[in-house]
Amino acid sequence: MTLLKKSAAEFAAMLAAGDVTSVELTQACLDRIAAVDGAVHSFLYVDAEGALAQAAASDARRAAGTPASELDGVPIAVKDVLATQGLPTTCGSKILEGWIPPYDATVVARLKAAGLPILGKTNMDEFAMGSSTEHSAYGPTHNPWDLDRIPGGSGGGSAAAVAAFEAPLAIGTDTGGSIRQPGAVTGTVGLKPTYGGISRYGLVAMANSLDQVGPVTRTVLDSALLHEVIGGHDPLDSTSIDQPLPALVAAARDGASGDLSGLRVGVIAELRGEGYQAGVQQRFDEAVALLVGAGAEVVEVSCPSFAHALAAYYLIMPSEASSNLARFDAMRYGLRVVPDGDPSAEDVMRATRDAGFGDEVKRRIILGTYALSSGYYDAYYGQAQKVRTLISQDFAAAFDLADVLVSPTAPTTAFRIGEKLDDPLAMYLNDVATIPANLAGIPGISIPAGLAPEDGLPVGFQVLAPALADDRLYRVGAALEALLEKQWGAPLLSQAPELTPAVEPVETSGGAA
Ligand code: GLN
Repeated sequence: MTLLKKSAAEFAAMLAAGDVTSVELTQACLDRIAAVDGAVHSFLYVDAEGALAQAAASDARRAAGTPASELDGVPIAVKDVLATQGLPTTCGSKILEGWIPPYDATVVARLKAAGLPILGKTNMDEFAMGSSTEHSAYGPTHNPWDLDRIPGGSGGGSAAAVAAFEAPLAIGTDTGGSIRQPGAVTGTVGLKPTYGGISRYGLVAMANSLDQVGPVTRTVLDSALLHEVIGGHDPLDSTSIDQPLPALVAAARDGASGDLSGLRVGVIAELRGEGYQAGVQQRFDEAVALLVGAGAEVVEVSCPSFAHALAAYYLIMPSEASSNLARFDAMRYGLRVVPDGDPSAEDVMRATRDAGFGDEVKRRIILGTYALSSGYYDAYYGQAQKVRTLISQDFAAAFDLADVLVSPTAPTTAFRIGEKLDDPLAMYLNDVATIPANLAGIPGISIPAGLAPEDGLPVGFQVLAPALADDRLYRVGAALEALLEKQWGAPLLSQAPELTPAVEPVETSGGAA
C-alpha cells in the first residue's frame, strides 16, 4: 500500500531511476483493484491483460533509454465516456451495453502514445448526467472516505479510483462540474481546461458546447503533467484551439514555492453564504487566509448573473443532450429491443430507448426537446443563451479586478447514497459553483482544502482563471497545496481510510468489474 500512495510524478521518477518497473506498478494497481473495488466500484471494466502488455512495452522503452514521455509506464484509468478501441464503452448506460468502439478518442490515443498503461474504464452517471454516480445503470460508486456516501458525479468512478489508490491518475469529463465536484468530495485534484484546450474527439457528447475532458489526480503537479500529455490542438475536433498550451508543468513547479506576491485573488460574493455548509465555508475561508499569507491580495468580486447560471445550464445542456442522444436509435450501437409481432423501425427504436435509457436521461431528453420546440425556443433556449452571455460578461468584469477567482467547489461535502436521488433539484444544486465556468468556457481546478469539522469529509477549493490562462490554476493550485500540506504534515489523502479488502475480490482478468 505505501507504494501505491505515491504521486504519479514520484512514480515517474522511480521508473526513470529503475526503482520499480511499470509491470510491477501496474500489477500493484490491479491487485488493489481486486482487493477493494468490490466495495468501491470505481471500475466498469478492468483490462488487466491490456494494461500489463502496455506496461511491459513501457519497461522495454525505459530499458532502451527511449521513454515516450515523463509519465511513460504510469498507469491510468479512463472514464467510460471516452471511446477506447477494443474495450467496452458504455457511458454508464444500458443502451450502449456491449458496444466496442472501433477507434480511440484522441485523449486515449495520446495516453497510449505517451506510454501510460490503461487499467480500465471507470463508472459514471449515465451519459454524464448527475452529481453522485448514482445514475449509473451499473450501480453506484462509493466514496472511499465513507462507503455509505457518494463520490460525486458524474465522474465518481475516476475520482474514487484515484482516492482509493486503485490508480494514480484518471481521466474525467466536465460539462457542469463532473471533474471538479467529484474531486472536491473525494479529496482529489480535478481540473477542467479552457474550452477547446483538450480534444473532445471520441468523447461521447452530452452537451458539445460545455463538455471538456480533464485530469483527475492526487497532486497539482500530476494534473499538469497529465494535462500536457492529453492537451493541445487536435485537427479532429473542430472546436480545438489551434495554439500551444501554456507552460503548465513549469507553472505547477513554480507555484510550489508558495510565493504569491502580487497575485490578485477575487472571492466571488455570490458563491458563498446561504446553502453552503458551515465546515465547507470555514475551510474555504482558511485557505483564502493562507493565500493572503503567501502575498496575494484578496478582493471581493460580484457576478450577479450567476443567480441564473443553474437555470440556464439546465436548458442549454438538456437541449444539446436531447439532440446528441437521438443517435441511439437501436440501429447503430449497442442494445436493440425488438417487440413481439411485426414491429416497425419506429417500434424498435421506441422499445430500445425505453429499455436502454434511465430516468434521468429520459427527463433531460424531454426537457431538451421541450426547450427547443417551435414556439418555446425563444422563451427558453434563446433566453438561456442570453444568460450565458451575461455570465461571460460578469467573468470579464471580475477578471479586470483579479487574476484568479475563488469559491468553494461544491456547497457541501459528500452526501449519503440515496439522500438526493429522488429530488432532481437538490441534486442539480451541487453544481451551483462549478457550472458558470462551463457556460463561459473558462478553466477551473478543485484543490483539496481539508476536512469539514462537522463530518470529517473532504472539502474542495475552486480556482478559476480567464480562458487560455490554465497555467494560473497550476501556479495558484500548487502554492495552496504546498501551504496546506505544510500545515497538515502530509497530503490529505494519507488520512483516507485504508479500506479493508472487499468480501468478494473482483475478477480482473480482462472481464467486467
Ligand atoms: N452534474 C451536472 C449534470 O448533471 C454536471 C455533469 C457533468 O459535468 N457531466 O449535468
